[in-house]
Amino acid sequence: MSFLGRILETPAYGFATSPDSEELRVPSRQELFREFFTRLNVFATPKNWLPFWGWTATVALIAPLAIFLTFFFSWKLMIIGLAYAMIVMGTHGTIYLHRYSTHRAYRFKNSFARFLVRNLSIKVIPEEIYVISHHVHHQFPERAGDPYNVHGGWLYCFLADVNHQLIARDLDEKDYSQLTKLMSHTGVRTNSYAQYQKWGSLCHPARTVFHYVANWAFWYGTFFVIGGHALSCAVFGMAAIWAFGVRTYNYDGHGRGKDRRQHGVDFNTRDWSVNQIWPGYVAGEWHNNHHLYPNGARSGFLPHQLDLAWEFIRFYHWIGGIESFKDYKMEFYRDHYDPYLLTLKSRLNSDGPLMNSTSASAMLTVSVTAMHEESRTHLTAHPAHSYPVASGLHLAEQLPVPVES
Ligand SMILES: [Zn+2]
Ligand SMILES: [Zn+2]
Repeated sequence: MSFLGRILETPAYGFATSPDSEELRVPSRQELFREFFTRLNVFATPKNWLPFWGWTATVALIAPLAIFLTFFFSWKLMIIGLAYAMIVMGTHGTIYLHRYSTHRAYRFKNSFARFLVRNLSIKVIPEEIYVISHHVHHQFPERAGDPYNVHGGWLYCFLADVNHQLIARDLDEKDYSQLTKLMSHTGVRTNSYAQYQKWGSLCHPARTVFHYVANWAFWYGTFFVIGGHALSCAVFGMAAIWAFGVRTYNYDGHGRGKDRRQHGVDFNTRDWSVNQIWPGYVAGEWHNNHHLYPNGARSGFLPHQLDLAWEFIRFYHWIGGIESFKDYKMEFYRDHYDPYLLTLKSRLNSDGPLMNSTSASAMLTVSVTAMHEESRTHLTAHPAHSYPVASGLHLAEQLPVPVES
């Protein structure tokens, strides 16, 4: 079994129908809930501390939500809180957890620049739970072993952070050491092998809890200074909605169990990931584009695909906090979009009178040329960056550590 195939803790119902099979084992609701509550039981083993902590933090956010709704409710504060949760927290997740911590799409200038970005919003998701399992998702998208396999159903994905995203508890020292390398750049101090054997995790509970407390105290205090308990409770309360909502994202991002890909919009054909307007606009998650170029610092390529995470990365680079990034926009146009437009153009030319083919051809020619120009402008603006071709590369070939079979 490959390295990425053995680093997640297998649920009692298994990822596949049998150890030798690649067929997904779809558990019942009862099996999912049984696994969920078994893994949250910290009295059974201290190794359950991390999923327990993750859900404790999420559920704790219901308290400020209730206080806001009871004592401070106003539509204005609700909209401010929602905008913060959906846009700031959503985009921050893309910037820090997704593009940096998992895919190393860019490099910070120094650890202080990284510290600022790491804490740029209210902390909800432990790095370890996100990062390790997300590598596995890219390695086996929609196949047995994918921690949020869309074919497992909504609940399979919603409970995934507890049921499918935890690291395996029986890793030998060599595998554990290799696993720590996937986190070495994130700023998370990882456990020794002896600590891992006690806690079952890469991060230590004391440091993790301290980080949450310090982060929440800082942000609650900051919003309190700006707008009192009313604003703090509005923001933290809406963060609760985001914390639950984000658990549904991976199901939505892969078509909610149906092939919803659109010709001319979704160019990655290896899985059912789709480019969606809402997660694209609020968080820069154009998920089909992302599966095409997983380690790029941008996933919004087309003119209408606003990518706030990319805008932040560009801005932070401009002020000196980021020293380099990877961008695949040119490759996207060269390998996918331009060929698509040219095919469309030739089809229009050959099909004849359905529309005015002369004006359609002219429009498409202008479109291709303009997009080339835009790509080249970007390249000229950042001549120091390399633009390796990602298309056709498997993620394993792009991982920073050797992956054994
Ligand atoms: Zn995906
Ligand atoms: Zn990814």
